[in-house]
Amino acid sequence: YHAKQHNKGGVVLFAAEHETAIHEASHVVQALRAANLQEELWVAYQPIVDVDTGMTYAMEALARWNNCSLGPVSPAVFIPSAERSGMMSQLTPVLLRKALADACDWPGDVRLSFNLSVFDICSPASILGVLAIVRESGFPPSRLDFEVTETAVMLDFDQARDGLNALKALGARISLDDFGTGYSSLSCVRQLPLDKIKVDRSFVIELENDPAGRQVVRTIVDLCRNLDFDCVVEGVETEAQKAILREQGCRLMQGYFFSKPIPSAGVADHFTRHGPH
Ligand code: C2E
Ligand code: CA
Ligand code: CA
Ligand code: CA
Repeated sequence: YHAKQHNKGGVVLFAAEHETAIHEASHVVQALRAANLQEELWVAYQPIVDVDTGMTYAMEALARWNNCSLGPVSPAVFIPSAERSGMMSQLTPVLLRKALADACDWPGDVRLSFNLSVFDICSPASILGVLAIVRESGFPPSRLDFEVTETAVMLDFDQARDGLNALKALGARISLDDFGTGYSSLSCVRQLPLDKIKVDRSFVIELENDPAGRQVVRTIVDLCRNLDFDCVVEGVETEAQKAILREQGCRLMQGYFFSKPIPSAGVADHFTRHGPH
């Protein structure tokens, strides 16, 4: 993509790459349509850690897809493809059922955090589906967080707010994901039933050598405190980043420094090492 601004040859290269990307995406959609989603989709879990206590505050469910012909496909690829082709309404119920079933085995003070896309929150039918799946699972809604991105919410603000209000009414909490990467205004943020803000990884990358970067994070943390939101910083990869963030007043963190996403079979072991029990 970077070839774009160079010379004429660069423009041609850009066009060719772009075509390949489109071709691959249609491949992914085809494979998704043909897939046995119940068998091929699985869920990995990445802890959100309370650094004051060292305890696991929540586990975020992250979708994984192992396709018989394509092999493992990244969610950064197949989720956008599923969104564009209208397939999230088929993926989300499968993923949510699996995540809730897994979370029923976790210690009672660990929350489940589950990502919803714009299509999940803006369609009343999808929201009703989510509510039914949560009720059927037996998992207490009070231990459930739904993550929605700023961008998703801004696509159709009124519908999104209604959807989020329905999830809140169930007893779940709402997190605004990838905060700082979209275009939501503070007045919009205040109109949503939010409990928590997840500060995007891009802010962590700015931290180490850059006083201005620290100031930005500090400002977001203060904003959360003033608006009475919890705050999670994602993408923490080093001890140094963790230390700086703690200085800035962050308490909840997530990232490779603490743990990569782990398969369900490894979660019990994670709790014995990092949990209260
Ligand atoms: P996200 O919700 O922002 O999730 C964080 C992503 O960053 C995950 O990538 C995670 O593995 C990765 N990550 C976590 N810690 C670190 C770190 O320290 N360094 C770096 N470099 N990366 C880190 P993943 O699992 O590939 O997911 C990508 C995106 O796909 C997610 O971003 C989310 O937007 C979407 N996604 C994943 N699962 C689901 C799902 O079940 N439903 C929906 N709607 N979207 C999902
Ligand atoms: Ca997320
Ligand atoms: Ca995120
Ligand atoms: Ca992100």
